[in-house]
Amino acid sequence: MKNISVILLLVSVAACSGSNRPTAPQPTAVKTPVKNVIFLIGDGMGLAQVSKAIQQREEPLNIESANYIGLIKTSSSKQAITDSAAAATAFSTGVKTYNGAVGLDANGGSKKTLLELLAEKGYATGLIATSGITHATPASFYAHVESRQKYYSIAEELVDAPVSLFIGGAEDHFDNRVDKNRGRPDNRDLVKEMAAKGVTFISALDELEKASGRVGYFTADNHPESVGNGRSDYLAESIQPSIGFLQRQSKTGFFMMAEGAQIDWGGHANDIDYTISELYDFDKAVGAAMKFAKNDGNTLVLITADHETGGLTLPAGDTKSDEPYSQAGHAFSSSGHTSVMVPVYAYGKGAEAFAGVYENTEIYNKLLSVMGH
Ligand SMILES: [Zn+2]
Repeated sequence: MKNISVILLLVSVAACSGSNRPTAPQPTAVKTPVKNVIFLIGDGMGLAQVSKAIQQREEPLNIESANYIGLIKTSSSKQAITDSAAAATAFSTGVKTYNGAVGLDANGGSKKTLLELLAEKGYATGLIATSGITHATPASFYAHVESRQKYYSIAEELVDAPVSLFIGGAEDHFDNRVDKNRGRPDNRDLVKEMAAKGVTFISALDELEKASGRVGYFTADNHPESVGNGRSDYLAESIQPSIGFLQRQSKTGFFMMAEGAQIDWGGHANDIDYTISELYDFDKAVGAAMKFAKNDGNTLVLITADHETGGLTLPAGDTKSDEPYSQAGHAFSSSGHTSVMVPVYAYGKGAEAFAGVYENTEIYNKLLSVMGH
C-alpha cells in the first residue's frame, strides 16, 4: 500500500506541476513476477568508464547485451553528491539518506532492506563483493548503522542477518586474533559465534556444491587485492555456483547482489588502467549472470552504479596533431565522486521496467514491483 501511495503522490505532483512536459507511458505490468534477481553494482562506473572499456577492446562487453537502459539521479538526502553508503541505502531501502548512513533513513531511523524483506518472504539471498563484506555497498543490504566507518558494528549485524551466502573480504572485522594488529578490538570472535549458529565457512568455491543453510566465504583478511595486483576473478567465478547454491536453499527464488567495488578505487586514484581492469572483471560477472538469466527465463539481471567516480571525460588524445580527433584520450577532473547521472542496464525478465530517467530510490520500488510485491 505504501508503494501505491508513493506512486499516486508522484503522479499528482506531476499533474499539478503545470508544465507541458510529456509524461512517459507507464510500462505494462509484467504478467508473471520475476522469480530471481541478480543485482550487479559497478561502484563508480559512469558512462565514460563504460565507454572507455568498450573503446579499448575488440569484442563487445557483456553489458552491451542489456536491452533496456535507464538513467538514475544519485544525489543523497543532504548532499548533491552521494557516497556509496547513501547510494546503496537508496537501492536497498527506497529512501534517500545522508552520506555515510548504512540502512538508515535521513533521520537515523532503521529501514528494512530489500534483502531482509525478501528473506522474510522465503527468498534465498546472496552478497558478493570485491571489497570487504563490511564495506558500504554490501553492508547497506544487511546492516543499520549511523556511519559506514563502524566496521566492527557492521560485522556484528551480519551474525544474525538473513544472508544465505556472503563472499568477500574483511575477515579481520569478524575474527578475534592473537596478533594485536589484526582482528577485532573486543573479545568477540564473530566467526566462532556464527559457526555456533550454523553458518558454514568455506575456503573454496567448489565447497558450495555440498553446503547448505547459511554460508560465508572470506576472500581476504582485509580488502581483496586489485585485479592488477593479482586478485583472482572470483567475482565472475562465484556467480554460477552461488546461483546453484541459492536455488537449492529456496524454491521461492533468490536475490543476489554482486559488487565490482574497485572500479571506484581506480577512479579515486585517477588510474585509468586500475579502473578499466576492474570494469572488465565486473563485466565477466555480468556475462555469467546474463548466461544464467537467458537459460532460466525467470530471472532479471540489473546492472548499475551507485555514482560516477573521478569525473572521467574522454577528450581527444593528442590535441597537437594535425587530426586532433583521431585518438581517444581520457582525463579525470576529480579525485572523488561526481553528480552525473549513471546508467542502468537491464536484461531478462522484467527488464523493460527499468527504462527511463528516475531517482536511485526507484530501483527499490521497481525491483519489488517486478517481483510481484
Ligand atoms: Zn568512492
